[in-house]
Amino acid sequence: MQHVDLLIIGGGPSGLSAAKMAAESGVKSLVIERNSKIGGQLVKQTHMFFGSEKQYAKTRGINIAEILIQDCMEHKDMISFMTETTVVGLYPDYVVTVMDRNHQYSKIKAKTILIATGASEKVLAFENNDLPGIYGAGAVQTLMNVHGVLPGQDVVMVGSGNIGLIVSYQLMQAGVNVKRVIEASSVIGGYKVHASKLKRLGVDIQTQTTIKRANGKEAVSSIIVQRLDDDWTFVPGTEEEISVDAVCVSVGLSPLSNLLSMMGCEMKYVSALGGHVPVIDQSHETSVDNIFVAGDVCGVEEASSAIVEGYYVGLIIGNKLGKPHPHYEHLIQDFSQQLDNLRSGPFGEKTRTGLKELRGDQHA
Ligand SMILES: Cc1cc2nc3c(=O)[nH]c(=O)nc-3n(C[C@H](O)[C@H](O)[C@H](O)COP(=O)(O)OP(=O)(O)OC[C@H]3O[C@@H](n4cnc5c(N)ncnc54)[C@H](O)[C@@H]3O)c2cc1C
Repeated sequence: MQHVDLLIIGGGPSGLSAAKMAAESGVKSLVIERNSKIGGQLVKQTHMFFGSEKQYAKTRGINIAEILIQDCMEHKDMISFMTETTVVGLYPDYVVTVMDRNHQYSKIKAKTILIATGASEKVLAFENNDLPGIYGAGAVQTLMNVHGVLPGQDVVMVGSGNIGLIVSYQLMQAGVNVKRVIEASSVIGGYKVHASKLKRLGVDIQTQTTIKRANGKEAVSSIIVQRLDDDWTFVPGTEEEISVDAVCVSVGLSPLSNLLSMMGCEMKYVSALGGHVPVIDQSHETSVDNIFVAGDVCGVEEASSAIVEGYYVGLIIGNKLGKPHPHYEHLIQDFSQQLDNLRSGPFGEKTRTGLKELRGDQHA
């Protein structure tokens, strides 16, 4: 059985930045990634990011992934990668079971484990939601931006958060007719700048409206949408049929935290963080000694915070393994300050509320 000091599950922005900071501290790590490409969600994000320069604002997601990978390559004697390999089991003796690209199973034992598995798309319950042609927005982004395949020609997007708006715009850029964006809430969820771009292209964003049913035999051919009142109840007589060959559902992400439950980590349901998240202290260590978390798995946010959390936790792990980074105190303070800044203002309110609920008032 292979033995490692630090095992990082997930090669997204949080896992990569943790590997870099652990390496700078003198800790060797193994990063396990189930996909063939390293970079997590970033590998499909062709749009330029918001935020501050420290977190690569105005850089395309795919290019941020390249920068983070390059940073790791500068420590290639300290960081190794296993791609197309999925962690399928995590046990109390710090042994993980992995399944590789040939469907072969093996075990790895680690002193410390960082779970950086990100999040998965939420599904929406409506009649016939399993018809072919009904996709999650993230899946559509992967189809288009990674594999160059269009999901269909006439699409309705369900959900007006940033992901719904960005993917709608990318569909339009790819020549797909986005017939409408519908949103159950009374307000558009994503940034105004994304919504305005769509409106300029003539896409109607209809609030207080949801999908009631999908129709079709072999695949979706039309959907029924209906208006909602202020209590989120269907308004009688407002049903409308829209013909489509694809539907994109973008109703949020939930932390991919099943490995943490398997390990027996204390979990809590925090709606503002996306669902079941591990109970953690300020150092991002879970209730199980030497099991750490970073990124969307401990609360759905953005790549910017996932990167900074990765750096922060990588430093803490180095320190815990007896190898403090030469600039530990300064960097911990800097990353902590960056996280506070990212979570300040109106857009950070949801995360602040979630963290307050998760940690209790003494840490809020
Ligand atoms: C359409 C879209 C647009 C976005 N736009 C922005 C933006 O403009 N700005 C911004 O800051 N953020 C943006 N985000 C959010 C950002 O992409 C995520 O917050 C960020 O990628 C989270 O990083 P992470 O490392 O926690 O998880 P991820 O990037 O999801 O990486 C987790 C990795 O873990 C791997 N993994 C999971 N389970 C296992 C397992 N059992 N074994 C092995 N590997 C596993 C996954 O394959 C994945 O590669 C956007 C997201 C989407 C979907």
